Amino acid sequence: MVFLEEEYWKRFPLWKDVSKDEWFNWKWQVRNRFKTFEDVEKIVSLSEEEKKAFLKTSDIFHFGTTPYYFSLIQRFSKEDPVYRQIFPSLEEIEEEVQKDAYLDPFNEDIMSPVSGITHRYPDRVLFRATNFCSVYCRHCMRKRMFLEEERARTKEEYERMFDYIRSNKNIKEVLVSGGDPLTLPNKKIEYILKNLYQIEHIDIIRIGSRELVVNPFRFFDEELLELFDRYDKVWLVTHFNHPNEITNITKKAVKNILSTGTPVLNQTVLLKGINDNEKTIEKLMRDLLKVKIKPYYLFFCDPTKGVIHFRTDLKKGIEILEHLRGRVSGLGNPIYAADLEGGLGKVPLFPNYLLEETEEYYLLRNYENKTVKIKKKKGKGGGRGI
Ligand code: SF4
Repeated sequence: MVFLEEEYWKRFPLWKDVSKDEWFNWKWQVRNRFKTFEDVEKIVSLSEEEKKAFLKTSDIFHFGTTPYYFSLIQRFSKEDPVYRQIFPSLEEIEEEVQKDAYLDPFNEDIMSPVSGITHRYPDRVLFRATNFCSVYCRHCMRKRMFLEEERARTKEEYERMFDYIRSNKNIKEVLVSGGDPLTLPNKKIEYILKNLYQIEHIDIIRIGSRELVVNPFRFFDEELLELFDRYDKVWLVTHFNHPNEITNITKKAVKNILSTGTPVLNQTVLLKGINDNEKTIEKLMRDLLKVKIKPYYLFFCDPTKGVIHFRTDLKKGIEILEHLRGRVSGLGNPIYAADLEGGLGKVPLFPNYLLEETEEYYLLRNYENKTVKIKKKKGKGGGRGI
């Protein structure tokens, strides 16, 4: 976890006159987003080569970051996990690198009965509230949104989305995502939550947002916290990928969220050059628990156009799980999963702990490779073996 001192941002000449009230205001963070190369140059001067890559790539896939997230960069180089998640690189647009990737690998736009809704599993739908994000992550699985103009949905679109959910009683859970739905104004969030909350067959409203990572001040906004409290079907799923993203400000923000009774879970994407090693993921899981976020998923990186260069070997995630088991408490062990192309759903992947099955027993191993046989039950009763 990173400790940010009081008024730490004043170390940067650009922000030396920014008051605490401004820096801690989520709207100030969104208003003062960096969107261009000129914005970046106000803080750091990049080499000609880096400049060329930035301009060429961001012309296709947008660039954007909040000042807060930018301030978490510790070194202005590709080795830095925050830098790498926001700075455009040429690999994103190199055809040879991206040749096995797709703009919409999971057919979200095809499995869409109504614009803005993806219905893949019987009991859940994806509800894409906006295509706007305060930070454009280079590894975003919906990177195709970066190609479009930023916009929120119209009222008519939202109404059609609510109607679809109302008329499908099998739907129990709505994943409100985007873009980032918590970049919307409170009035719009209230409108969405109220409509979903009033649908009796909806048990869970799961909000997928990166604001806790890139603009934690969003959760210092009493009005938003009051909405979480009132519409108490809300769960928040966030997206931390590296321990450098977790700060003392994150901790305060999580405390505010938890005070509304809203659980906070995290999804991490396994990203080459950012977090694809045992030590980093172990620290990330520990730091998430320290601020009371439950690690939920670790995802194999998706085959998305502009993203696939971040992909590791599939087995890397299994090796990482093998490392975590026995070292970090069960609370800090996420589910490792790969999303299958074509919208076929997520597949959980585990190290193999069941080594053998005979007519008599199962042979299990633990994290230290010590083995134990468990006798099979025969008829009524049965028993546990050695
Ligand atoms: S905040 Fe989420 S939706 Fe937005 S760019 Fe990042 S990963 Fe994609």
